[in-house]
Amino acid sequence: MRRLLFLILTQLLATGTCDISPGPEQEGKHEGKTLAHWNYEDQDWVKGYPYCNGDAQSPININTRKTIVNKELPSITLEGYNLKETEQLDLSNNGHTVQLSLPDSMSISGGFTQKYLASQLHFHWGSENIPGSEHTVDGTQYAAEMHIVHFAAKYESLVNASQKADGLAVLAVFLQVGTQHNKNYDHIFDKLQDIAEGATIKIPGFDINTLLPSQLHHFFRYTGSLTTPPCFQTVTWTVFNEVVLISQVQLDKLKTSLKANHHTLDSNFRQVQPLNRRSVFASFSSLTSSRSIVPNVGFTDSDGNDNSANGNHFTLGDTLAVIFGTLFGCTALAFAVYVLKQKKQRSNTERGQKVIYKPAATMEA
Ligand SMILES: [Zn+2]
Repeated sequence: MRRLLFLILTQLLATGTCDISPGPEQEGKHEGKTLAHWNYEDQDWVKGYPYCNGDAQSPININTRKTIVNKELPSITLEGYNLKETEQLDLSNNGHTVQLSLPDSMSISGGFTQKYLASQLHFHWGSENIPGSEHTVDGTQYAAEMHIVHFAAKYESLVNASQKADGLAVLAVFLQVGTQHNKNYDHIFDKLQDIAEGATIKIPGFDINTLLPSQLHHFFRYTGSLTTPPCFQTVTWTVFNEVVLISQVQLDKLKTSLKANHHTLDSNFRQVQPLNRRSVFASFSSLTSSRSIVPNVGFTDSDGNDNSANGNHFTLGDTLAVIFGTLFGCTALAFAVYVLKQKKQRSNTERGQKVIYKPAATMEA
């Protein structure tokens, strides 16, 4: 039984994404077992995949006013992301997304307490005029979202890692339409039309780093799940604050080039899930962010969650310091106004005496 489960999982994860799900050919029967079919139109996935009903699901809406600033979150360091052209990568349409396989020579060496190796990247997008990012920020949904899936090196494979609490790390990048063509994405987007439904093609390696925003040290961090069945709650999410811009033509290519079930493969994003008792951390404060598209984070944690294990965010002491600082400032200002008022009154009184005095003098005259 265990072996069967392992085989099913291997099949699921070999073809999937966070979307680590099966492609159209694989979806269905495995050694006599039938896997529940799932799609984005009916997102009630819990029937076939009970983890999808968990209390730490992804994606989520990031409410920036409730994020907790923790500037001690280590910056993300990418290793081996600059792939040689001679390295051939699999680019496939698995029926749910377009997925680029990545070699495990690529890794995240910073930003986490352990090493994570790359497995694949894929995209989520909308349709026509509908945006399709999975995460939202203050209710804003972006045009598309890229996920780079990594697994903990100590678990040796994506399959093994996918069910371990600290097994997976996914980097999420928002894509939005700008005025410029982004040639870095041509490596993938220019090939989309060549990938038949369920097919895989080879593309030469390139610098994957160029797909990422420049400010890797500004990100949101929380723990959640795969955003597709089987929805394992084993993902440490890093959602970059800076949005990457692509052209409208490029976005249209992403939205219209691929087919699934003989229809355009689009709107492949999961609805946002309840945050429940989880905390979302930010590696930066609004004062240090240069992001202009989305309002930046404040420093409150009005949910009263216990975040003490996560280090150096704003504490009660910091908050009290701000309150007393403000009160002191107000008192000083009030005192200064009072002194000025007194001075003015004295001066007016003196001037007033002169004014009173004159008519008196006249009267006396
Ligand atoms: Zn994904």
